[in-house]
Amino acid sequence: MPLEIAVPSTQALLSWWENEGRRDPAQKPWMFKADGLWPEPDDALDPYGVLVAEVMLQQTQLQVVLPYWTRWMERFPQLDALAEADEQDVLLCWQGLGYYSRARRLNAAAGMLVAMGASGADPSGWPRALDSWLALPGIGRSTAGGILSSAFNTPLAILDGNVRRVLARLQAHPTPPMRAQAQFWLWSEALIAAAPGRARDCNQALMDLGATLCTPRNPSCGICPWSDHCAAYAAGTSEAYPVTDAPRSLPFSVIGVGVVLNQAGEVLIDQRLNEGLLGGLWEFPGGKQEPEEVITDTIARELREELAIEVAVDQELITVDHAYSHKKLRFIVHLCRWVSGEPQPLASQQVLWVKPEELGKYPFPAANARIIEALHGHFKELAAT
Ligand code: SF4
Repeated sequence: MPLEIAVPSTQALLSWWENEGRRDPAQKPWMFKADGLWPEPDDALDPYGVLVAEVMLQQTQLQVVLPYWTRWMERFPQLDALAEADEQDVLLCWQGLGYYSRARRLNAAAGMLVAMGASGADPSGWPRALDSWLALPGIGRSTAGGILSSAFNTPLAILDGNVRRVLARLQAHPTPPMRAQAQFWLWSEALIAAAPGRARDCNQALMDLGATLCTPRNPSCGICPWSDHCAAYAAGTSEAYPVTDAPRSLPFSVIGVGVVLNQAGEVLIDQRLNEGLLGGLWEFPGGKQEPEEVITDTIARELREELAIEVAVDQELITVDHAYSHKKLRFIVHLCRWVSGEPQPLASQQVLWVKPEELGKYPFPAANARIIEALHGHFKELAAT
């Protein structure tokens, strides 16, 4: 006997979305045909633009993604261009979006898609099976469902943060959604099954409902098409869902960073190993402050251990606080003068002396971008004195 899944009317959702959804080509250009119209059920969209958007949207909001997507499509207009691209160019184009492993995996996935026969803007050679997409790096079930339903109107469900929040409230689900994934997938699939031929529209409508009405705070339940079917709203507890685990306090560390200049006025940067957080990006060298250690000693020690150089640590340039999802860091950055030793990449892929005005050619994490800004400000002050 088929499992009975209680979901509200998709018709009510779709009627709301047709009038109030984010159906503006300026907001989601990848969701529109070349003639600027929303696709009919039998139309296919350019899967490449959809793929790039879906990967960017994995951890980032639509308004933030849009300018990045536009720039990306100018730099790598088709799949082949991305597949052939140098990883450094890809990281540079992604710079500022965070979670950089997404860019490296997208680069790798493009190569695999080309090998599968996908190319150009012609959707016909692209894979249509869920398993083919799940075999690509960085593509999970929700991203694959989003790509296939958006590009080809394939009847596949999605389960991103917006959808999880809407479903958790509709059902007043008593545990965090990530601990009841199978149940949430069943609900999302039931909604797609209840809207034959309209998977693309249904997924977009769900995401739009979560992003515009069923927001994390102050949801607009009074104008929601599902307010009559929403258990959380009926109980007057919409904001209590999704239930979350008690917040963990994030570990905090201080990082001493050296902006090392040589006599030619060049600055020393190193490229992080590909594995781990911010892999493949460039940074100013440094490392964690030990207990009781003075920060200038931290910097001198780290540069000795990681680059085999001796430096004179001068004045502080800037302090930058940065929070990642799992830790908080304070970067205390000092200007340093190179004294001796040929820099060696003992804990990185490579080290380079570069002219300060050329730093923009290298992809840096967000915290380092502020250091670069401070460095340029320092040179400007020097020039003015
Ligand atoms: S009624 Fe409120 S809580 Fe329920 S789905 Fe609509 S916006 Fe979300």
